[in-house]
Amino acid sequence: MRKLFFALAAFSILISSCSKPQDSKKQENNQNEHLVMATLWFQRASECRALYYQAFNMAKLSLDNQLLTKNDNTKPKAVVVDIDETVLDNSPFETNSIRSGKAFTRAAWKEWTDMAKASATPGSLEFLKYAESKGVETFYISNRDTSALAKTIENLNELGFPFADKRHVLLKTKTSIKTERRNKVLETHEILILAGDNLGDFDEFLEDRSTDFGFSKVDERQAEFGQRFIVLPNPMYGSWEKEVLKSERKLDGFEKENLRKKQLIGYEEL
Ligand SMILES: [Mg+2]
Repeated sequence: MRKLFFALAAFSILISSCSKPQDSKKQENNQNEHLVMATLWFQRASECRALYYQAFNMAKLSLDNQLLTKNDNTKPKAVVVDIDETVLDNSPFETNSIRSGKAFTRAAWKEWTDMAKASATPGSLEFLKYAESKGVETFYISNRDTSALAKTIENLNELGFPFADKRHVLLKTKTSIKTERRNKVLETHEILILAGDNLGDFDEFLEDRSTDFGFSKVDERQAEFGQRFIVLPNPMYGSWEKEVLKSERKLDGFEKENLRKKQLIGYEEL
């Protein structure tokens, strides 16, 4: 009996001494592990490319229809687009995050945007050039920090995007909520289309997801998607993720991974 007791005690010590380094290693490895499939899909699935084309084809159709429909608004017409993962592809930044295994930092993001090397998303350039040919201006409303303004304009200009200047590129000053900046555009222009990968790119009404992840709010505005609102696919990050993680930013990679799994439908039923 004593032998068995000592054997069990020794075994449990062995297990606990082995499990700690494994756990911490797991935590480190898990920091950006979830981004691998999302980034692969974004970069390597032709379906993603096709979805961008589909979205901008819908945008063109909607723009044509709206330009043909007479209304009383005599202001010049405009299209409002978000920048990141709407007209610029920053997925190489996600690749770097996966390689480094480190959590997102503003410094790392600034290092990437300062390079001004993001490529254009499929179909975005063609759509905005088409809008320009129809006399429609583009305003870029993005939550990039204002310190990134010059490099952002440089990046957009090098790719040939129209209206890439200080008057048309409106970056974040005080708040990430875009209503104020949209209202600024509305003072001088009529907005026909809004394109973005995040619901906050369309209307402040859609920002709050505290009830049912925002599904019912999207349902309420169903008819506007593909018409006034053009949505682009982004599985890598977004405000949707904050609701999944309940804004628990201080969690380590392992805890975040567990929280993500718990939000999967059916995960905890067995
Ligand atoms: Mg975006």
